[in-house]
Amino acid sequence: ETRGSQELIRAEEPVLAHNYHPLPVVVARAEGTWVEDVEGRRYLDMLAGYSALNFGHRHPALIEAAHRQLDRLTLTSRAFHNDRLAEFAERLAALTGMDMVLPMNTGAEAVESGVKVARKWAYDVKGVPDGRATIVVAADNFHGRTTTIVSFSTDETARSGFGPFTPGFRVVPYNDLAAMEAAVDETTAAVLIEPIQGEAGVIIPDDGYLAGVRELTHRKGCLFIADEIQSGLGRTGRTLAVEHEPVVPDVLLLGKALGGGIVPVSAVVGRREVLGVLHPGEHGSTFGGNPLAAAVGTAVVELLETGEFQRRAAELGVILRDGLTGLVGKGVVGFRSRGLWAGVDIDPALGTGREISERLMREGVLAKDTHGSTIRLAPPLTITGEELTGALAALEKALG
Ligand code: PLP
Repeated sequence: ETRGSQELIRAEEPVLAHNYHPLPVVVARAEGTWVEDVEGRRYLDMLAGYSALNFGHRHPALIEAAHRQLDRLTLTSRAFHNDRLAEFAERLAALTGMDMVLPMNTGAEAVESGVKVARKWAYDVKGVPDGRATIVVAADNFHGRTTTIVSFSTDETARSGFGPFTPGFRVVPYNDLAAMEAAVDETTAAVLIEPIQGEAGVIIPDDGYLAGVRELTHRKGCLFIADEIQSGLGRTGRTLAVEHEPVVPDVLLLGKALGGGIVPVSAVVGRREVLGVLHPGEHGSTFGGNPLAAAVGTAVVELLETGEFQRRAAELGVILRDGLTGLVGKGVVGFRSRGLWAGVDIDPALGTGREISERLMREGVLAKDTHGSTIRLAPPLTITGEELTGALAALEKALG
């Protein structure tokens, strides 16, 4: 490819569906926390592929695992066994304290699969009359983009024009146990929530909310499904965001960083009583559990087993929090953070989140707005204290 950034951006316009509005940067290579554009300009990556790059770009251990596997076997489909899948499932289950794994590819597929498993559990185990199962979700959720998932979104942009929608979902306000209590009844298969709402702006519920959801779902006899696709795998300073309470859900949805930023890997991880409801032919995926994904996923689990990334997120999270605290009143009107993950509300008078992101880009830092004037910061967990301080200085400059 010999075209420059501006030419490549123009070239996309007529041939790519316009479902994204990327920042005007064309990345050509990357290593660790840094990406480089076509012209060789370097940027600090403070988005990390929406947390898919928790271990940074091209982490040596992950690249090596991928290379080794590429030279041996890439795909069998689940028509046959492959020699990498057992270890991946064993180690992922052990890491998360669960019994069984259902491997899929994208986050949305993990959510869809979790919804199917919860409904099947409701009919087969709980005894809900066929076709009547409900799932309780939270307002302002983000679980993905499929037709069923947007059916229970409260974001009009995500829904409008995509009906008819899948029935069977009840939406309650996030962080509101009384509303959840009122919505859960004998038809409820599961409560499905993000332990921290990512796309909504890194919304952290009150202490006790997750424990309350756990108590409520136990008492009412329905499943607790935690979507840890963005919050999980080290981001918040723990392997899972639910561990901050500490709470053990029935089902975890994992994705993004599980594929090490190399291949799409997601999984539904849960107790045997739940995932055991699936029988041959009832669910599947051509690529789910493929040996390349399993090899990279196993290497990801191996990195998390060391605890080093969780520890870094917790320690560097203090620098992030302190830095943002110092910016409050200087263009920042408020923020929420846990570990290396922050939603930063910018004074709307200074510009939209988009405009601030573009200014940050000119300062050599890549980040992305979520809604309105909120900037999300989620660097690779391999970031150094110095780099993080540099990113905060760039933010101060972009606000000034
Ligand atoms: N669930 C959560 C909490 C997410 O943040 C996302 C993506 O941002 C998804 C699900 C969907 O994942 P994917 O884009 O891989 O389908």
